[in-house]
Amino acid sequence: MIHIDRDRADEQGRPIRPGASWFARAARGRERAAAEAGAHEADPGIYADDWVKAALEELFHRKCAYCEAPIGAEADWNVEHFRPKGRVAERHGHPGYYWLAYEWLNLYPVCEHCNQRRKDRPLWGDLQFAEAGGKQDQFPLEDEATRAMAPGDALAREARLLLDPCEDRPEEHLRFTVDGQIVAVTGDRKGEVSIEVFHLRRRRARDARRNVISEVVALLKLIRKSEADGRQEAAADLRRFLEDFRLADSCPYAAAARAVVRDPAVFGV
Ligand SMILES: [Zn+2]
Repeated sequence: MIHIDRDRADEQGRPIRPGASWFARAARGRERAAAEAGAHEADPGIYADDWVKAALEELFHRKCAYCEAPIGAEADWNVEHFRPKGRVAERHGHPGYYWLAYEWLNLYPVCEHCNQRRKDRPLWGDLQFAEAGGKQDQFPLEDEATRAMAPGDALAREARLLLDPCEDRPEEHLRFTVDGQIVAVTGDRKGEVSIEVFHLRRRRARDARRNVISEVVALLKLIRKSEADGRQEAAADLRRFLEDFRLADSCPYAAAARAVVRDPAVFGV
């Protein structure tokens, strides 16, 4: 997971969000939701509108907001409600954050493995089922007394335990190991709970991160060798390649790649 600036513009300087007509429809949907409260059935025709999907794909560089897996060409993805719209797993009787069903800031592009409950299916070299996981309707808080129960309750008061890619700096909470596993910074509850709820330890995600980590390790070694051999131009070219194709926001698993550059010694460089 990396931080994404929701207000960023595209290359032509246009804000990356649906147009005014969608926000007008969303406002009508919100009025309906407020009137029906807990009985409201959220309308995917609004929250998963093509315009919303196109904007989310662009804003998040066609990557899952949580695990950074490529989405679109390779995998199906969901328009995810960060605060769940229909129920809250941790709070019996909570109607869900129905008033945020059409709130642009509550919508994220998320792969099915992070969003839905999925098994961690066996791998050829590891023929066992590991623990199933996925976010679904979870939205854990440190303190239930802070939970927003109705429109108007302050969301900022909630002692949220899930990392929000648009609000938090995930690199302050998450670390990676040489074999691609993701771990929380020692004692970091938000990191621990996010890894658990988003199912970020599933083996295929671990292996994808491990591949990126191996590439960055190899590139850093090449850069050092070029520098030691006095080939400064080659070293500079490699640095640019590393920057553009492994570390940029648009690169899959950029968080893991950046962890190597930040602390190469941990990864044997
Ligand atoms: Zn994902």
